Amino acid sequence: MTTNEYIEQAEQYILHTYNRFQIVLENGDGVHLYDADQKEYLDFAAGIAVFALGYNHPGYNNALKNQIDKIIHTSNLYYNIPSIEAAKKLVEASGMDKAFFTNSGTEAIEGAIKVARKYAFTRDGHTDHEMIAMNHSFHGRSLGALSITGNPHYQEAFQPLIGGVKFADFNDLESVKAQITDKTCAIIFEPVQGEGGIYPATQEFMTGIRQICDEKDILLIFDEIQCGMGRTGELFSWMHYGVKPDVMTCAKALGCGVPVGAFVLNEKTAKASLVAGDHGTTYGGNPFACAAVSKVFDIYKEEKIVEHVQEIAPYLERRLDELVSKYSFIKCRRGKGLMQGLEIEGDGVTVGQIVNTAIENGLLIISAGSNVLRFVPPLVITKGDIDEMMTKLERSLKKYE
Ligand SMILES: *Cc1c(COP(=O)(O)O)cnc(C)c1O
Repeated sequence: MTTNEYIEQAEQYILHTYNRFQIVLENGDGVHLYDADQKEYLDFAAGIAVFALGYNHPGYNNALKNQIDKIIHTSNLYYNIPSIEAAKKLVEASGMDKAFFTNSGTEAIEGAIKVARKYAFTRDGHTDHEMIAMNHSFHGRSLGALSITGNPHYQEAFQPLIGGVKFADFNDLESVKAQITDKTCAIIFEPVQGEGGIYPATQEFMTGIRQICDEKDILLIFDEIQCGMGRTGELFSWMHYGVKPDVMTCAKALGCGVPVGAFVLNEKTAKASLVAGDHGTTYGGNPFACAAVSKVFDIYKEEKIVEHVQEIAPYLERRLDELVSKYSFIKCRRGKGLMQGLEIEGDGVTVGQIVNTAIENGLLIISAGSNVLRFVPPLVITKGDIDEMMTKLERSLKKYE
């Protein structure tokens, strides 16, 4: 079939909840993807910050193939070996205490919300607790996650959402303090906001929130779904700040393409929240998904992925900064490690136009918020890949000069 025929069938059979770019991706190799006409694209989107190790990683692919031949699914009524190994690696690498595997990021968030409510219920014996989330946050599309996503546009048609949610301004300690009451049971945010436009937390905000949470026995929940797993140059981005959460959510690069997420608890929270019967999932933590997680942690170690991000990210920053000084419609660069954004502000050009032109030029980049070009490449990119990205991006930017 031709690309157009594929797209026609897609629109016939798949519910149209995405305005997709008009290409059909068929296979990948390293940091490159190929469409149904075998046109090559340099991938600086990584399936939205998922495919950290690049495509066709032999060790990763073989681990999955081997697991398929052993067992794919067991349910959580029994123990399975990959989930034990994966949990041990995740817990040890994060310095947390207990993990629960989910099928997606949004489900990890749902779990974290339940943890927070149960923790407060166990302590207080009542259920009218509140959570504080941030404006411009993104935590997922299920109703609980949507309720703490600070974007009215996503929420509007789906009211009523879950109650007891208050919003504050990210990086504004006073605005968080203003929302705290005796009922506050948790504060949740992304240490580097992703969908909201690539905004890293300030040290002051991180330290200040931790202090407030300690004083008032409020759980601090970090959503590391996008900024975690080495993307910012530490395995989890809170590690930059030396500020540890009580609960952390993880997904995206955790399985590097196999749908899996997790929420991870410290001991204090694990001891006083969910117990047998409180939460469950049929698929979550299944041997196939966990074989992926387990192998991802092995490869991170063997290939020193986090160290590589630390080494390569300054080069990406420098090259992106060149664009800020060169193009008047690029206002600034923000980000941490290999999670970078360029803010676009100009009459003649939108982020969407640049993204589309880049795709024509063989470069996959995506947007964040309404006016930010987002760079979340596979973590294995080289200087050569960054140079290739710059060539293709500049070809696209010139059009709008
Ligand atoms: C992607 C994302 C989610 C939702 O994860 P899904 O796997 O799409 O459900 C939640 N939080 C953050 C920060 C994300 O980037």
